[in-house]
Amino acid sequence: MTTKFNDYLKKFSEIQTPFYFYDLDVLRSTLDKVREQSLKYNIKVHYAVKANANPRLLQIISSYGFGADCVSFNEIDMAIRCGFKPDQIVFAGVGKSDKEIVGALKAGISCFNCESLPEIEVINEFAKKSSLTANIALRINPNIEAHTHKYITTGIEESKFGVNLWELDEVITEALKLKNISLTGIHFHVGSQITKLSVFKGLCLKINEIKKTFETHNVKLESLNAGGGLGIDYDNPDIYPDFEKYFLIYNEMADRDPDQKFHIEPGRSLVAQCGSLITRVLYIKKGVNTQFAIVDAGMTDLIRPALYQANHKIENISSNCKSRRYDVVGPICESSDVFAKYIELPETKRGDFLAIRSAGAYGEAMASRYNLRDLAKAIFSDDLK
Ligand SMILES: *Cc1c(COP(=O)(O)O)cnc(C)c1O
Repeated sequence: MTTKFNDYLKKFSEIQTPFYFYDLDVLRSTLDKVREQSLKYNIKVHYAVKANANPRLLQIISSYGFGADCVSFNEIDMAIRCGFKPDQIVFAGVGKSDKEIVGALKAGISCFNCESLPEIEVINEFAKKSSLTANIALRINPNIEAHTHKYITTGIEESKFGVNLWELDEVITEALKLKNISLTGIHFHVGSQITKLSVFKGLCLKINEIKKTFETHNVKLESLNAGGGLGIDYDNPDIYPDFEKYFLIYNEMADRDPDQKFHIEPGRSLVAQCGSLITRVLYIKKGVNTQFAIVDAGMTDLIRPALYQANHKIENISSNCKSRRYDVVGPICESSDVFAKYIELPETKRGDFLAIRSAGAYGEAMASRYNLRDLAKAIFSDDLK
């Protein structure tokens, strides 16, 4: 049993479960570490809002001076309302709608990260109608393997993301003919939950090589954007990601001209470890080889285990009796609604609280109302002190 939640247990008993519990001290110390590295190497951080768009978290993250990486106009709008400056917002996504493009132009964002020539042409048209010049960065698919789950691998050639290397020359040539866009950067994002840091080294080598293609077209790139993807240790929820090593790789391996900006877009690594999904055990049910701990949270609250076979550490924070094996399952009418199979927990009974750890990223943000369930509320450590 961790002591981490002891101070909060009494308060938890007054709150409707399941709920997301955000430890804001953990968030702030994560952000402190990232800001320190960011300043040390002059690498600009844009937080990937899709990992968690909870306004309270966004306000804290924006207060650190970070920019935002958004993938919809609604995210841009929310980011601005939570303190991010429009000129520090980049807009990514393979399918930006007309309405979103117009909205983003009007909001005055810093850059569109573009994934195809047709998209660039549409942005050019809308910019022309408003007599604007839109900054664009080309998202390039560097065709490298991220060694992560196939649903979160984005940088291989078969993926729908980015401009492929074999069409790069043509896209640059065509983009340079358009009058209302300015090609100012290149952008990459090769996957998520990347724990092999050598992947980022490989990415740097690709960036260095691809930069040269732009030089042959006489394009002066103002910024190089390596995207996000830094993984976290789901087995050890109290360990912070190795930001020192991560930033060091970019500083040492990416060739950056003196006046060129370097950007990264971490999502998960900033917010995952500050969040836990707190759920109550409803029933213990005998299975054939195991016991089921049926809890009141389900895949509608946290879909990662069902969607990516993701593993979140689960702790029984109410009990510390001798341990036994359980399958921790939710109440949803889907066989994939399983949080963990055959894990060791203290003897668990109806009413116990379980903490599903490292749930701050792609948890609340991916929740749905399937089965017409209520959305889990967010509770913040600062409010329970
Ligand atoms: C999702 C995404 C990110 C953030 O990825 P993490 O793995 O959460 O760090 C960054 N950039 C882009 C373009 C993305 O789509």
